Amino acid sequence: MSWGTPAVTRTARKRHVCNLCEWSILPGDPYLRWCWFSDGFATTVKTHKGCLRLVEEYTNPEPGGSYVIDEEAIPEALSWHEPSKEELIRVAGPVLGRLWSNYLNE
Ligand SMILES: [Zn+2]
Repeated sequence: MSWGTPAVTRTARKRHVCNLCEWSILPGDPYLRWCWFSDGFATTVKTHKGCLRLVEEYTNPEPGGSYVIDEEAIPEALSWHEPSKEELIRVAGPVLGRLWSNYLNE
């Protein structure tokens, strides 16, 4: 069984790595942070807000309403849905939307 604490918004004081895209969360950037418990392990999850929005927009929640958070979640969802650059920017914001759009077109 897995469960997570509610996500809280923090402002990065040092560089973090987003669990979803593996790009940097830079000092000063807002990000989401929560704890995830699964099979006896506790993990602290940190994501860009835009990356979590992409997961929520393009993937289906697990029974119970949580989403799979790993580095494959967004690439899989995007290769399935193939959203336009404009669509990515709408969902993820200008910076992350462009990064993911470039990633899709590589
Ligand atoms: Zn990210």
